Amino acid sequence: MKSRCDFCYHHCTLDEGQSGICSVRTLEQGRIVTKAYGHLAALAVDPVEKKPLYHFLPGSKTLSLAMPGCNLACDFCQNYTISQSSYHQHQAGEAIDTAALVSLAVERNCPSISFTYSEPLVWQDYMLEVASLAKSKGLSTIMVTNGTFSEEALERIFPLIDACNIDLKGDESFYRRRCNGSAKPVLDAIEYLVGKKAHVEVTTMVMESEHDEAHIRALAGQLAGRGVQVWHLSRYFPRYLATDPATSESYLQQMINTVSSFGIDYVYAGNSEQKQATFCPRCHAQVVSDRRHAPIRYDKTLKEGRCSACNQEIYGRWPS
Ligand code: SF4
Repeated sequence: MKSRCDFCYHHCTLDEGQSGICSVRTLEQGRIVTKAYGHLAALAVDPVEKKPLYHFLPGSKTLSLAMPGCNLACDFCQNYTISQSSYHQHQAGEAIDTAALVSLAVERNCPSISFTYSEPLVWQDYMLEVASLAKSKGLSTIMVTNGTFSEEALERIFPLIDACNIDLKGDESFYRRRCNGSAKPVLDAIEYLVGKKAHVEVTTMVMESEHDEAHIRALAGQLAGRGVQVWHLSRYFPRYLATDPATSESYLQQMINTVSSFGIDYVYAGNSEQKQATFCPRCHAQVVSDRRHAPIRYDKTLKEGRCSACNQEIYGRWPS
């Protein structure tokens, strides 16, 4: 008998023995299972800024992990060896016990665990098992995702994840041509999560060959309309199948300048040599130091989420 997966917006209907578009979820003996459950393709300790999250526990480390797989097929994927099934073929390391992962995070002085590198939506059952235990031990949880949730997945995941970085890669045409995907579920997820007051930061990788001013301005309007406050505009470099030329620093700055009037308070340059500090959107006092240089320093009044100079609220989760 057929069965339908609700882990992402594709909602694949599977026959016995068949895998979905992600090639990870498979119908076995009438039950959809996640292949190689718990076998990690990557495990590392990263600065939280690398996710990127700039307004969530700045200066902290996060235990970052991935199982293989993704439900999109972006031709410019930066992590294709663990996301695309023709490369990873579900090969991954040893299965790691959930409790051991949480203990490792504590041992390595990580106040959070991040589900990242590949697409956690396609292994969300494992993510939620780890996240549930992590939260019971007082750790925070982070999901770095392409944002193509199903409605069911949003409702399931939202209570167990404290912060998300969501990719908005381009307009609908871009998703169709370059990702075998769609912008709509991503925008719907952003709207849902911001509406629920989840911590959300958005990343867009800017390609000079694809993202002209009109394109970036259209994305800015969509994000501003949904109440997004933190947007990382990141330089693209050729990777995987894509041969488009790398994005220059000057082009990235031009795109950042073009969205300055949209009311998104914190817009950052990613993969860039440009300054990575945070400024109060009202009085322009610097509240977090330039993240290119350790240690990262922040205004002590951020503990209350406020600028020390003018008492303006600064979006984020700050160390207490
Ligand atoms: S995770 Fe998405 S792509 Fe994979 S089987 Fe489920 S619905 Fe299909």
